[in-house]
Amino acid sequence: MRIKLMAGNWKMHKLARELPEFFRAFAAAVGFVDEDAFPASTQVLFAVPYPLLDPATKAANSSMPGCIRIAAQNVHQDAQGAFTGEVSVPMLKDLGVGATLIGHSERRQYFGETDAAVAKKTKAVVEADMLPIVCVGETLAEREAGTTEAVVRRQVEAVLADLPNPGHLVFAYEPVWAIGTGRSATAAQAQEVHAFLRGLVRKRYGDGIADGMRLLYGGSANPANIGELMAQPDIDGALVGGASLKPDDFAKMVKAAQQAH
Ligand code: PEP
Repeated sequence: MRIKLMAGNWKMHKLARELPEFFRAFAAAVGFVDEDAFPASTQVLFAVPYPLLDPATKAANSSMPGCIRIAAQNVHQDAQGAFTGEVSVPMLKDLGVGATLIGHSERRQYFGETDAAVAKKTKAVVEADMLPIVCVGETLAEREAGTTEAVVRRQVEAVLADLPNPGHLVFAYEPVWAIGTGRSATAAQAQEVHAFLRGLVRKRYGDGIADGMRLLYGGSANPANIGELMAQPDIDGALVGGASLKPDDFAKMVKAAQQAH
């Protein structure tokens, strides 16, 4: 039985002073206040901008101690060096941050992140025993050209090629055409790619790791469609952008995930 994971991605939104109220409202809406009352079947995580890592951790722990993980949205592959503006794995660990997104399509699209860079970042995070959420997914042109599986295979195999043991690795399948557009993949479309992705993991590592690896769907997931998405056998949670900025909406999605398979 895989533990479900509901991950918010705040992108470049929110200020530190808004966080106590956000987590108070989220705790009230989701209906749990501490670790003991928190259903172990579903983890909740927020990936926040670097300056919010510490204030978000404090605000979440103040409203709902032990219930929420705070993650970064990106990390550099080297431990240190002359890389102005970048943040390393040891720096995240030093702050007590144990998880990060890697290779989000906005990073690939606007900041030129390549499959090779995503693979190196993932390796650095896995070797530090942290939780990487690696994003993959095709553009609309790639889907329309019938190359969805080829694109996902290329992105996934680049990551797995240099990873003898995937550790806590999580993949998020995020079709680029569904991110922030209000046009989610259908549950059937998402399930089809998730099953394919799990098959790639199975081929490389065998049944134990493939059956234990969590695969998230991302792309305009919202309170109305999360139930159907979570009912799919290979969907273990969601990476949620817009709806995770609203405490009531994200709370509804977390509750739906708790009730799913
Ligand atoms: C995302 O940013 O990863 C995402 C899926 O965004 P949205 O839910 O807004 O489509």
